[in-house]
Amino acid sequence: MLREGPFEPRNFKQKRMKRILYYFFQSIGAVWLLRLLDRNAVSILMLHGIMDLDKAKEWIPLRTPFDCRQLEASLKILSKFFQFISLDEAVDMLCGRKAIKPHRIAVSFDDGYRNQVKYAIPILKKFKAPATIFIVTENTNYQKPFWFDRLDYAIQQCGTDKMDLSIGTANIKLQLQTWEEMQRSFKLLRTAAKMQEFPESGIQQQMELLAERLEEKSHKRLADIFESDECTGLLTWDEIRQASKDKDIVFGSHSVNHQRLGLADPAEVQYQLEESKKAIELHTGLECIYFCYPNGSFNRQVAEMVSKCGYRAAVTTLPGCNQKGSDLFTLKRIHPPLDENRHNILWQIHQIQRLKNPMKMLISRQYPIEFIQGD
Ligand SMILES: [Zn+2]
Repeated sequence: MLREGPFEPRNFKQKRMKRILYYFFQSIGAVWLLRLLDRNAVSILMLHGIMDLDKAKEWIPLRTPFDCRQLEASLKILSKFFQFISLDEAVDMLCGRKAIKPHRIAVSFDDGYRNQVKYAIPILKKFKAPATIFIVTENTNYQKPFWFDRLDYAIQQCGTDKMDLSIGTANIKLQLQTWEEMQRSFKLLRTAAKMQEFPESGIQQQMELLAERLEEKSHKRLADIFESDECTGLLTWDEIRQASKDKDIVFGSHSVNHQRLGLADPAEVQYQLEESKKAIELHTGLECIYFCYPNGSFNRQVAEMVSKCGYRAAVTTLPGCNQKGSDLFTLKRIHPPLDENRHNILWQIHQIQRLKNPMKMLISRQYPIEFIQGD
């Protein structure tokens, strides 16, 4: 059952206010000043699913993938103001092995969806943009959907208008009548799951059970359509091997099974780091040297373990840019700005780098000991 409305604009007033602010800062030249201040910053874009949303006939995830036309429009604008570089080159500049060149940006994808190679890579090629794709090896091995995608599909199929449930210590009321309600509720559910301070295995089990309950109601399971699903289907090892022949596509590890490493015990962290690295190296025949923290969850000990495990660098979901001398195992990233106006895109990139990161650090009491955010 596909419900109406995923493409409706967000809160119109909020958008208009943002636009007014953008034009104000634009008119006083703030964007160009920030761009000048940020000239030696190395940015890393963080993307997830990329789809041709017009072709998504069966269903569209509530965690809606980026539309390929939006990606192309954003990259086109970015390409006029930045030069795309590989993560290798970014790390070389950050560690001082190469001189920093102004306005450089790298592109990364999390989770290893098939649509990243099918839709995003051809677009990146147009702009000579290399990419790093972070894969979750157990899900790749067994072609198993992530719990959040399975639950997303189950929620949309179940036909229930509302639901009350408990996740750990959180009691949640889900409203599921309209697309917007489902999106809000699903976000609430995922956030509640991620904020639970007990190991990921418990959370994953609880979420899989919830999905199973919903699937029993609708008799529809994401697993049944997963192999050919454009939205949530994962790359197979054959596809990864094929793609890795392209020198501009590098595969990194996103753990064995998408565990929140900031909450895992050291033995589990070691297993997640080592096993995923080994699997990627075995299947691609190439060294796996980059790691991406699942759910953005890490702490100092985890970051140190990543560095000792043979990785060269690791990316987080902490928003912001990186400077020469930045810690290579806690690299910050930014969501690609969605806009058709070049000033707005530049403003969002530089605004995030200058303003959003300190704000996030202030409101996150646990940072840098523990930080959980994003995917
Ligand atoms: Zn992820």
